[in-house]
Amino acid sequence: MASASEDSIEYIWHNGLPHIRWEALDEAIASRPADEHSAFLTQAIEQWLHRLAAATGREAGVLKHGEMFLLYASPDDQPQRLLRWSAGALARITTIVGDHRTPEMIGPRVIVLFDDDSRYYDYIDRFFPEEGHYGASAGICISSEYFHIAVGPDDVDMRQRALAHELTHLALAPLPLPPWLDEGIAQMMEGEIANVSFFSVDAEIVERHHALWREHGLDVFWAGESFGRPDEMCELSYHLAEVLTRNIQADHRGAFINFLAAAHWQDAGDAAARTVLGRSLAEIVSDFLGEGPWHPRDPWDPRQIPTQPNCCLHPHRFMRVPSPTPTLAASSPGRARRNDFDEVLTVPQQDVCKKGIGMTRVNQRRSLTIRCAAAGAVVGLVLALIPIAFGYAIAPRIPGPFELALQVVFVLLGACVVAGIGAAVGFVVSRLLQKSRNAERSGDGVASSGG
Ligand SMILES: [Zn+2]
Repeated sequence: MASASEDSIEYIWHNGLPHIRWEALDEAIASRPADEHSAFLTQAIEQWLHRLAAATGREAGVLKHGEMFLLYASPDDQPQRLLRWSAGALARITTIVGDHRTPEMIGPRVIVLFDDDSRYYDYIDRFFPEEGHYGASAGICISSEYFHIAVGPDDVDMRQRALAHELTHLALAPLPLPPWLDEGIAQMMEGEIANVSFFSVDAEIVERHHALWREHGLDVFWAGESFGRPDEMCELSYHLAEVLTRNIQADHRGAFINFLAAAHWQDAGDAAARTVLGRSLAEIVSDFLGEGPWHPRDPWDPRQIPTQPNCCLHPHRFMRVPSPTPTLAASSPGRARRNDFDEVLTVPQQDVCKKGIGMTRVNQRRSLTIRCAAAGAVVGLVLALIPIAFGYAIAPRIPGPFELALQVVFVLLGACVVAGIGAAVGFVVSRLLQKSRNAERSGDGVASSGG
């Protein structure tokens, strides 16, 4: 049986925190029979996480749920809740974007939570080049060495938002996506999975896009480099990525999942756009930015794409693929059906962001609430018609004009009250719907192995 003993794992210490020396572990894995690789790697990672927890703080611990590990810095992080939520979120994300893991990709999903900024940056610092300035981040999907997620301190809602984003990168990791498409989908998933979306388009941000990209061009955007900038370019890169992704998804319903499968970072997805969508990337961009020199350079030079950018950019993306290739197949539950993406991510046509069209806000939580409240109010009003009709029916029996007027006023007031109650019920229903959408799909049984 596979067993990763403590001395079979070598560590590199960085800022007082242990990281696995992967060359040594890969050798240890390769020396094992192929059918033990996965279990051996999982054991090694669990041991590393306990070591990392011990170095992080006295209250830190490690939880496991299915194929997912979560390291928490403090019980105040609500780790069990976040772990179950994350497992359910990843299952839902996989339903939407598909499961793209291949049998060669082994190893558990790993989330590391930090409860203070300095520890968080101490940890992720190892994955950045020594030189350079990078923007702050709430979470990161680390693509070098071993694909895993680190999340900084925040409240539960914001951590769920960060996790929805990073778990989407994790689910898309086996695909050679261009960074802008990877980020665009991850941004959209924040609203879909965590019900927290700050996406909006208004005249001011359209102006900022025009000014910025006309001055600098889109090369840095296509290459993914602009997402790691510590300035306005970072913010507008994420925003532009979401605008383009939403526009493509809305304009090419049914073809999006094929575009996702065909897009490659080497040409920023341009060939896939021409083949699958029938339009070049430059044409798609010009819908929003107007005509301009938006073509990705051709041919794209992959050496110009940074391998260690700020957040989640990973032109070379793999789970751990030990050598020699193991024969043990990772489970590969059904790939996304062609239309899953369109069915689940409904983008109303008016939300498409074309040039000059300001959109005040796309907030799926709010739109769901408004829809439910409006439906409740309509039902309330329809129900209120019954006493109104009844009031008119008995009115002729009551003498005098004032009684009739008063009766009508009271009935109308009653109708307003009933409509208000209907709206309130609709609001409550919308919250329950959101809760059930967010509810973990997996059962209980989070195994604690705190340390
Ligand atoms: Zn990202």
